[in-house]
Amino acid sequence: MKSEFLRALPVIEELEKNGYEAYFVGGSVRDLLLGREIRDVDIATSAPPEEIERIFPKTADVGAAHGTILVLMEGEPFEVTTFRTESAYENFRRPENVQFVTSLTEDLKRRDFTINAIAMDKNGNLYDYFQGREALSLKLIQTVGSPEERFSEDALRMLRALRFSSQLQFSLSEDTLEAICKLSGLLKHISVERKLSEFDKLLSGKSAVSALHLLRDTGLIDYMPGLAMPSNRMDQFLARTLSASFGTAQRWALLLFDLHPEEPEKFLKQWKMPGKTMKEILNILFFLNERLKKSWNEELLYKADEKTVFYTESICSSQPDWKSSIGPEEAVRRYRDLNIHSRNDLRINGDDLVCLAKKDPGPWIASALTKIEEEVLAGRLANSAKDIERWFLQWSNRAEM
Ligand code: ATP
Ligand code: MG
Repeated sequence: MKSEFLRALPVIEELEKNGYEAYFVGGSVRDLLLGREIRDVDIATSAPPEEIERIFPKTADVGAAHGTILVLMEGEPFEVTTFRTESAYENFRRPENVQFVTSLTEDLKRRDFTINAIAMDKNGNLYDYFQGREALSLKLIQTVGSPEERFSEDALRMLRALRFSSQLQFSLSEDTLEAICKLSGLLKHISVERKLSEFDKLLSGKSAVSALHLLRDTGLIDYMPGLAMPSNRMDQFLARTLSASFGTAQRWALLLFDLHPEEPEKFLKQWKMPGKTMKEILNILFFLNERLKKSWNEELLYKADEKTVFYTESICSSQPDWKSSIGPEEAVRRYRDLNIHSRNDLRINGDDLVCLAKKDPGPWIASALTKIEEEVLAGRLANSAKDIERWFLQWSNRAEM
């Protein structure tokens, strides 16, 4: 058994010792069977939430109402979820309340796709009541039960179908695809936070471009904030080469570059992204635009930081029509070669200037430092206290501050 599962084994054993059933379920079993890297190992159990909390000394309530408790085993967190059904759906969203059940089959039945509805016990035996393994071998995304029913219960599943097709490079089964085309409008009931989480994964998947084609062809795109732009802009993005090494922020930045909304910040705000992520995306977008206007020069490199230079230039070098790229490594080398990387690197500071000039502090300090930065960056002035002092005295005489 793989180490990711072995580490979670004590959780299963402990639940069984207390008379409950417990299985590995969902993404981890799917990824194990596909030979993909396994991320979080989720566990489903017949134990009700309060029993899980009683059995394990260290737990955190991450959604007891939905039956999910985080169990900490030697510092590592495992999501343990009580077998449940989701019967009363309201407004095409997952219900506020769930019903706990005692059978694994019932629990697997409420899961979205057959590939996500396989369970595995502690001995590695598989419980595959919905032909999930067959779907894996056919590379198919197929709902558990009637797609129309399942998408009407929770419309987010339509977007999840596309994100799994992007991540796994799978196709949608015919009836699953048909149902999405028919019911795409239901996506309007889903919160932007849930859409964002799936869209981030869709955009980062290996088949992002095909999944985006599907997003458009099924009509789901109309319910994705800002994406239903004039279609030639999306066409431009769909013709891109998205290198596997691109992170989510780079992908968003390139998407924004092609869609060129009037106000990129407003565009991202509609998605309710965390401020930090938004800043990172807008930063890459800014340097992408600048870099394409003129190549990297000292001034532009200085405004950026090493990571942004790397990210921006990797995007440029992967686009066949932006051939002039020097490549990310070379761009980073040039960045590192800058004489200074921030004002703090100057061998002189504002206080020194005040002493030298024998003048009261004022806005002149900032303009003097900016000028010194420019000179040092361009290599016209050495970054030594003596040289800068000499230069400053001459400059202040000339500038008659
Ligand atoms: P990832 O590797 O990206 O985490 P995952 O399959 O684990 O993929 P999650 O969103 O973490 O996906 O969900 C865990 C499991 O819960 C799924 O495999 C699926 O069985 C079930 N599930 C999640 N969301 C839904 C939903 N909206 N409707 C039905 N079942 C769902
Ligand atoms: Mg998961």
